[in-house]
Amino acid sequence: MPVEDALASILAAATPITETETVPLLQALGRVLAADQLSAVDVPPCDNSAMDGYAIRYSDLAAGGELAISQRIPAGHMGRPLLAGTAARIFTGAAVPDNADTVVMQENTESVGDGIKIIAAIKAGQNIRPKGQDIHCGSVVIAKGKRLQPQDIGLLASIGATRVEVFRPLKVAVLSTGDELVEPGTPLAEGQIYNSNRYTLSALLAAMGYEVIDGGIVADDFELTCQQLQALADKVDIIISSGGVSVGEEDHVKAAVESLGELGLWKLNIKPGKPLAFGSVNGTPFFGLPGNPSSVFVTFALLARPYLLRYQGQTEVAPVITKAKAGFDWGKAGTRQEYLRAKVQGDEVILYPNQSSGVLASASWANALVVLPPNTTVAAGDDVQLILLADLLG
Ligand code: AMP
Ligand code: MG
Repeated sequence: MPVEDALASILAAATPITETETVPLLQALGRVLAADQLSAVDVPPCDNSAMDGYAIRYSDLAAGGELAISQRIPAGHMGRPLLAGTAARIFTGAAVPDNADTVVMQENTESVGDGIKIIAAIKAGQNIRPKGQDIHCGSVVIAKGKRLQPQDIGLLASIGATRVEVFRPLKVAVLSTGDELVEPGTPLAEGQIYNSNRYTLSALLAAMGYEVIDGGIVADDFELTCQQLQALADKVDIIISSGGVSVGEEDHVKAAVESLGELGLWKLNIKPGKPLAFGSVNGTPFFGLPGNPSSVFVTFALLARPYLLRYQGQTEVAPVITKAKAGFDWGKAGTRQEYLRAKVQGDEVILYPNQSSGVLASASWANALVVLPPNTTVAAGDDVQLILLADLLG
């Protein structure tokens, strides 16, 4: 199954959660808006000066451009209606006084006695930021389904919001499988390796703002796998496991999920990363990622993450695909779509020398994934598609 088709059916199966909570604005970073945010004010709330300079009546310029200064208006203070034939000294952000219709920037004036002379061509209405220019009262500032970025938090503050309604964060269980795994902190016995997938996945999920439940390490045993899946299903919104989804004798995840719920197992046309399992345990959604650490990273980023985002209520979930010039040759066309751990440097993209799915250092080194469609070769200088990892984090 092509990656794009798998993603489409995974997303089609995602039902956004409905439970919401209201949080203080500064705690809403990274959360997904549960309601359209309407503005009850105009931004800016009144016509104001875009410059330090002088507020005038354009029609007064006909008399030669020399004007007495009748008042001074700093930002945050209201002036009086402008007297005919005079200018108001005004500062950036200050409300333009009644009767004034134009602001002349101070560089276009010179002092003449107590007044000013305008020494440049002036256009009627210039240097005034009109009321409501950024946001109209009653308009939707940010729509439901947007994941809030720092600039969104600022935008919401600009309309006076103090609290926002967001979806409650997903609760995600991370389950590690394999007799060979031990947790960091324990010395390794012969044949053992440290559990790294739990940490990669937990960190990815934490960056997305989710509550992570450690499902522990389950041995390669059918009964134990069933027990742990069942226990976790009652506690969380979704279970994500790694390892044990191949078709070897020691791979029990597939059979366990089948016995407890439903399973779709895809021979995905993806490298690294096949196989991938997607289904449910007692009605709780389930992703079975491969065991190899780089495969975990890639399949999570490309398939599990978009599902989670949609489940969390987010509207836009697909990573942005961009391109760069290959700073490498790729001579052997593969039959699977490859996601190569890569680094964008300037206008060029280079590859980590070892693309084996077990090599997590490749993902650590990378700042991008080059997307290589099936049956493709690349010569240095060719354009290649890529996804920036910054786009996949958080
Ligand atoms: P599996 O799909 O269970 O056969 O695992 C494939 C490879 O990934 C094996 O070499 C495993 O030892 C390794 N692996 C599986 N789970 C983890 C994990 N949690 N951390 C590090 N490596 C793992
Ligand atoms: Mg295993």
